[in-house]
Formats: sequence, structure tokens, C-alpha cells
Amino acid sequence: MDFEQLPVLVWTVTQGGCTFVNGYWQSVTGLDYEQSAALGWLRAFHVDDREKLSSMIVGETASLALRVATSKDRFEWVQVKALGAGSGEVVFVGVEAGPVSQVDVPAALQPEELRDLLEEAPAMIWSTKPDGYMDYANSRLLSYYGLSWDQAKGWGWHVGVHPEDWPGLEAKWRAVLADNVPGVNEMRIGDPQRGYRWVTTYGSPTFDRSGNVSRWYGVIVDTEDRRNIEEALKLNESYLAQGQALTSTGSIGFNPNWTQTYWSKETFNLLGINEGTEPSKTAFLEKVHPEDIQQVKETLASATQGVAEIAFHFRILLQGEQVRSFKFLAKRSDGFANPFYISVIQDITAELQVAEKLRQLESDLANVSRTAMMAEVAASIAHEVNQPLAAIIATGGASIRWLDRAQPNIPNARNNLVAIVQQARKANEVVTRVRSLFRKDSRSAESVHVAEMVREVVPLVEHLIKRERVSVQTSISEDIPAIVGDKVQIQQVLLNLLLNAIQAMENSAVKKLDVSIEAAGAGAVEVKISDTGPGLPEGHSGRIFDAFFTTKDTGLGLGLSISRTIAEHHGGEITAENKASGGATFRLFLPVLRTSAS
Ligand code: ADP
Repeated sequence: MDFEQLPVLVWTVTQGGCTFVNGYWQSVTGLDYEQSAALGWLRAFHVDDREKLSSMIVGETASLALRVATSKDRFEWVQVKALGAGSGEVVFVGVEAGPVSQVDVPAALQPEELRDLLEEAPAMIWSTKPDGYMDYANSRLLSYYGLSWDQAKGWGWHVGVHPEDWPGLEAKWRAVLADNVPGVNEMRIGDPQRGYRWVTTYGSPTFDRSGNVSRWYGVIVDTEDRRNIEEALKLNESYLAQGQALTSTGSIGFNPNWTQTYWSKETFNLLGINEGTEPSKTAFLEKVHPEDIQQVKETLASATQGVAEIAFHFRILLQGEQVRSFKFLAKRSDGFANPFYISVIQDITAELQVAEKLRQLESDLANVSRTAMMAEVAASIAHEVNQPLAAIIATGGASIRWLDRAQPNIPNARNNLVAIVQQARKANEVVTRVRSLFRKDSRSAESVHVAEMVREVVPLVEHLIKRERVSVQTSISEDIPAIVGDKVQIQQVLLNLLLNAIQAMENSAVKKLDVSIEAAGAGAVEVKISDTGPGLPEGHSGRIFDAFFTTKDTGLGLGLSISRTIAEHHGGEITAENKASGGATFRLFLPVLRTSAS
């Protein structure tokens, strides 16, 4: 049958577009062979019907009534049937079915109007020949490149591409040209003076009747601002993650019944849960220490009553029986449609350990004060012992006299001896009492790391250091031997020297405290504490170690004297001198093993 003779529209479509139209198609649509090629045939149909044609090509619909724009500028209904749909080539057959009433026909644009459209549209537009030779670029695109048309045409535009992006872009563009498939690329365009902007370019081929590429059309979109926002977001995220890691803090977001749950990366980390795990209340509770679980469950349940804030402490049990302590703080956020809680969990194990250590130090120091006080009362105790001793001497003398008589008076001598025993018991009692008071002392011969003592004592005066704005420089050399001694007493000496130095600098312009610890020879340790205060009191530097010598209004003048006693008790010594540059230096010298009796 000769299709050309029938008043029926016939056209064929392959993957590359339209490959055949009959004469009747041409007379109805006004589109000739050339104009219908590739995607050109679609122009014959009403915009709203074009999508239906693609459903016919893939074989979803076999027959439809569609609106066709005729050469007379009006629309006509055409009953269209697709044959062989779904295979490589689809043959369409269309029969006219009467005019379409009242349809808006888009105005056909004149060539100059088309050019205006391309130039004025808020987009960068280009087209190339099949081999990639650029034959059109709108002026918006040329100004982005910073090139004239003569400079940009063909392949000249590549000078407007960032030199780092060009090699990759060229390779990709050539691959797209070879494959005849739409392509997308990202690149920076501009020039070194004005700077470059990130853009995304989309290119797509059109085909001729025989399926060969006739041209490439493309648009370029500026993505610089979006990229900057994305980068800023990424940066913010990494700041947040770093902050969380540094402070051992994780975030948890949850709605009252935990059906919506969010955990930050650090939360997984802190709870020892694999990051791929789905965050849930169960997964969280599984990590909570069995002894705390009941309380945690009850406290979290208050979210269902919509409380504004939830706060509690809990412990988690990590692998290997490791227990860590946490703080949980949640606040209800009203910025969401449904109630939602934003919370943080923070690992406070180290904090609690430090607090415990400080408490221990405090009680140790209280012990030292007791010891110091004992030293003061020792004198009065000695006095108490002296009295029975004097009585013993006197009564003993009398006994001897009773016995030395020609007729020794045995009963009197005996009575005197009974009195002597009584007095001796009294003295013995006093001595026993003193020994029990100092018992703490006799136990305290342990291995002491002086550097560690310094590290423990400095935090005790931290508040003064901060308040007085003193800059502290600590230098601790390696290989400092441990000494044998009383930890608490040595802490007391260090604390006293540090306090004196800080107090001495009260009115100094420069407040520098240098603490150094060195090994002094093989068997001793030397701690040096230097300040930038006024130096030792003029004319009295020899007296500072005397008990009750003080130049301070509220001073007791006991610190250095007790310190010297302690140093000597450890077989060491303490010295003070003025520095040539101003200020005083105190040296505490402690042998590894005490040489004097303890
Ligand atoms: P207190 O501090 O109660 O006065 P101390 O025995 O600790 O008792 O000190 C005795 C005196 O030694 C101080 O009053 C002060 O005159 C002097 N002194 C101590 N340390 C320093 C120092 N670092 N710089 C200057 N003088 C000091």
C-alpha cells in the first residue's frame, strides 16, 4: 500500500528521534522532513500532550487522541496509534478527528525574537557543532568567560576555564562527544584578575533523521554561592565534631517516645557503639550500668509528660568492665511541630577523678596542719615530762639519804621509791601520749616523686595564681630519682614556698614564678622556687627560718621554720638567697635516702 496516497499521518521514531514522515504529515503539520528530524516532530503536538507520546514510545499506551498543531495555526484532534512500540523503532499512524475548540497556541517566535529570548533569558546558553566546535554562546556566557565572541568561538573558550579544571573537563567533554549522550560537568570559569566562579554545565545532543548528532545544546548554571554555603556547612559540621571530640560531648535528639532519634558521631564513640547502628532508646539503655538503669528509665520517661528539662548522672559499662561516668542534660525545643528534646551527654570520668583527688589532698593537708600543731605543743609536753622527772630526782635523793644513815630508815626509803615509781609512770604516760599523737609520722616513709608532688600542689594555689596574674614556668628535668620520705610533709614545704613566693610578688609589676626540679648528683633532688618579688627582708635574711619571724601583718612566721624542720628531718636542707636580677630563690635539697634519724 502506498502510504503517501492515504489521508493518514505516518511517521517513525527510533532512539535517535524521528527518522521518517510521510507527505500527509508534512501537509497537515507544515513540518517537512528536515524540520521533523530528531526531536523536531514533537513540535507538531500540543505541549501538554508531548509527554503522552513518550508513554506510547515505551509501549505503555497503544492508542490516544492527541492535539496536533496544523499549518493553519490551529489545533486538530488526531487519533494516534503506536505500532511496534517498545522495540527499537515505533511506527506512528494518526487519523484526523476534528478541530479542537479554544486552545491557546503559543505564539510562534520570529528569528529575532528567538535571539532575544536566548540573550535575555537568565541563563548561560551555548551550542556546538557535532564535533564540539562552539558555534553559539549568549552574551551572558561570554561575559562570564571574560571573552569576546571571536576569542571564545570554536574551542577558544577554554582559556576562560580554570587551568586546573581544563584537562579533566576536556577529557570528559570529548568522551561525551564520542558517546552522544547528555553530559554534566563542573568547572571554574573566569580569569585570574577577576577570579573564578564554580559552574555546572549541562550538554545534550540533537539528532538528524539518520540518527547522527546534528548539534549540541547546553546551559551553564552558576553554582558558586551554593558551593560556598555547602563548604561553610561542611566546615561548621567539622568544627562541631571536633569540639564534641575535644570535650567528650555527644548530642542526642529525641522525641518523647524516642521514635525519632538522632545521635552525633561522638555519641556513638562515647557509648562505644558502632556508627552503623540504628540509634534508639534500647541501644542507649543497653550501655547504661545495670545499677543505674532503673533511675535512667524513670527520668527519661518524664519526657512523655513534656517536662522542659531533664538532667541526671549515669554510668555506662564499656567492654572489659570499664565504667565511665556521664552527665545527661536535655532541653525541650519548641522549634519543632511535635515535642522534641535536644540533649548532650558528657563524659565526666576524669573530672570526677580530679575532684576525688582534691578531696584526698585536702584531707592530707589537714593532717599536715595537725602535725605542725603537734610540733608547737611538743614544747609544752616536754614541760609536762620535766615535772615528774624533777620530782623523781628529788625523791630519789631523799631515798639515798634515808639509806645512807648509820641506821638506814628502810620504810621511809621504800615510801620514797613508791613515789618515784608513781612519778615515773606519770612521765611514761605523757611520753606514750606524745608518741601516739605522732604515730602518723612513723608510718610515713614511702617512695615520693617530688615532680609529682609539685604537679599536685600547684593546682591548690591555682586560684591565687590566676587572681594575682602570676605567670608560672615549670621545668622538670628527666630522670629525677624518687626519694624516701613523708609525702604530706613535703607537700607542705612546697605549698609554703609557693605561697610565700606568690605573696612576695603581691605588689610587683612583673610576676614570674619559676619552679624547677633537677637531680642533684646521683642521690638527691633539688627543687628551686624563684620569684620576682622584693627579695629577702633587708638586714633580716638570716632570721627568716626562725620560728615566729615574720614581716607580714597577718603572718605567723612558722612556715619556713616548719619547712626547715621537715627538710632536715628528711636529711636535706632548705636555703634562701637573693637573685641578682631581683627577687628571691628558695632551694629545697632532699637526698634520696634520709641520713639523719627519723
Ligand atoms: P610567714 O609567711 O607567716 O611570714 P614564713 O616563715 O613562711 O612565715 O616566712 C617568714 C618570712 O620570710 C616572711 O615574713 C618574709 O619576710 C620572708 N620571706 C619568705 N618567703 C619570701 C620570699 N619569697 N621573698 C621574700 N621574703 C620572703
